[in-house]
Amino acid sequence: MRVALPSKGRLRDPAFKLLEDAGLGPEQPGERALAFPCRNAPVEVLLVRAADIPEYVQDGVVDCGITGIDLVRERGADISEVLLLGFGSCRLDAAVPDASLALSLEDLAGMTVASTYPRLTRELLPVDVDLVDVTGSVEIAPRLGLADAIVDLVSSGETLRTNGLRSLGTLLESEAALVSRDVEVTAPFAAMLRAVVQARSHRYLMLNAPETSLPAIRALVEPRVPSVLPLADAGMVAVHVLVPSADVWRLLPALEEVGGSSILIVPVERMVA
Ligand code: AMP
Repeated sequence: MRVALPSKGRLRDPAFKLLEDAGLGPEQPGERALAFPCRNAPVEVLLVRAADIPEYVQDGVVDCGITGIDLVRERGADISEVLLLGFGSCRLDAAVPDASLALSLEDLAGMTVASTYPRLTRELLPVDVDLVDVTGSVEIAPRLGLADAIVDLVSSGETLRTNGLRSLGTLLESEAALVSRDVEVTAPFAAMLRAVVQARSHRYLMLNAPETSLPAIRALVEPRVPSVLPLADAGMVAVHVLVPSADVWRLLPALEEVGGSSILIVPVERMVA
């Protein structure tokens, strides 16, 4: 199995970390070559530009790869987005200078729009525009008089703000994904990554409580069914349950309220089904 990973840029480090956490790091720790075998599975990693990965996967140079959904869609690659990976989140937004009269995406009709995403701009904007296809530093195009508006990737919105731009709306939500040409062939590898991606978004919760609190606790952690173990103290039980990480802060005070004590929150390494 050959897998393409981004050789640089903002997706590189989280992609490597995911591989490491799945137990598939480089066979030689600290490996810096452009291709290397992985530990624990017959997987060979090829390091290439994130933007080239959709094409490499489509052409069968590699079996699968990790790259941004935005790059896959811009290439129009005929490949499957097998698994969202939970990092590299961003939006493809249309934006205008603060002083512009445009207030919505529709207001861009007939304007010039600069982007490194010409295909998605044309496809996803609801109106016809004059496209200026640029290769970088899109956010300065309006100031240079090159365009009335831009379509570019945004995560925090900080770059837009520092360049005196405001968003008119989102054309596409993106994040890093495992992409594949043949889902069957890559299924075992996808399963290894899925076990880590799922585990990262959950926590294992352990607490003690009076047995009489069990109905209230079950109602709080639904639809998960907790494990219940008797404690040495009569009438007391230990409750163990897997919960979404995002729910932990809401759950803690509620569990205390219904009698939970000695509450432990533990990270999960892998999670299968
Ligand atoms: P890079 O190689 O650093 O240019 O990474 C590009 C990819 O990172 C993009 O295609 C997106 O999938 C992802 N990404 C996530 N957040 C951002 C952002 N704020 N700006 C650019 N790319 C981003």
